[in-house]
Amino acid sequence: MVMLDGKVASAAIKESLKKEVEEVVNNGKRPPHLAAILVGTNGASETYVASKVKNCAEIGFQSTLIRLDENISQEVLLQKIEELNHNDAVDGILVQLPLPKQIDEQKIIEAIHPSKDVDGFHPISAGRLVQGLPTFIPATPFGIILMLEYFNIETKGKHAVVIGRSNIVGRPMSILLSSNTKYGNCTVTICHSQTKNLKEICLQADILVAALGRPGFVKAGMVKDGAVVIDVGITRVEDATAKKGFRIKGDVSFDEVAPKTSAITPVPGGVGLMTIAGLLKNTLHAFKTRNGL
Ligand code: NAP
Repeated sequence: MVMLDGKVASAAIKESLKKEVEEVVNNGKRPPHLAAILVGTNGASETYVASKVKNCAEIGFQSTLIRLDENISQEVLLQKIEELNHNDAVDGILVQLPLPKQIDEQKIIEAIHPSKDVDGFHPISAGRLVQGLPTFIPATPFGIILMLEYFNIETKGKHAVVIGRSNIVGRPMSILLSSNTKYGNCTVTICHSQTKNLKEICLQADILVAALGRPGFVKAGMVKDGAVVIDVGITRVEDATAKKGFRIKGDVSFDEVAPKTSAITPVPGGVGLMTIAGLLKNTLHAFKTRNGL
């Protein structure tokens, strides 16, 4: 069984991005610049944004973290995005989700200019992805493809089953795996909460992607021998013995599933780290496009 180690794969990607940034800066250009907006003080969001900012610094990107109050109005947030859209010194904009109830997330997603949409959530980015055109791919599915590429996992002709149909993970993942590309060309089944016979469908999967947000949901009895299992789930589960009072659990019951697989991602240390690599790659792409590089 191969451990699809996100630390190893993301470190290699970050190293190559760092070299590209050094080259750009040596040629007299400013470094790529990511602006991240964090509304409120949600613990998980704080952690994600802090990690994105830290990773930017590690590879030589500039980043700006804009913190806004939990009670901010939608109008003020839209104004902030508009400012960043017009700021030539900013290449990529991300607004950390989820947002407080008074704000319509879809409006915010659509307010980000598609040329700076490094999260790839704008309908223009999503539409281009569906049509196989160059675009910003949502960071998590992009990170999974980068993972498959790094570990040279053959996908052509395989049956991939994706559990979850969200716009940020499951749906774009299913599009990528079914695309006519090197790490695509799968026959894809996409499952959700209304799927009947989920277990039987999962048992047919050569590649199983679990992105439903139910800790430990995928059990050994749902996995075919030799399958590749990608665990996207990140759920904080209370644990009094842990320093922070919780630990992170994936959607797969790792200990019982791992021995059946040919390759599997751990949680933590798998897809989460690749998601950041995907975001950094998108930001560099935005920078290069804006600078005609
Ligand atoms: P989401 O928007 O809540 O979507 C969950 C999907 O799973 C929905 O399509 C839902 O079906 C489906 N689902 C829920 N319960 C199910 C069940 N019992 N059987 C079959 N399908 C079921 O979640 P998300 O944003 O896609 O995230 C999914 C997980 O990935 C979460 O744990 C999240 O924290 C994690 N995540 C991780 C990363 C990373 O970097 N590793 C990034 C993003 C998200 P319906 O559509 O029918 O409701």
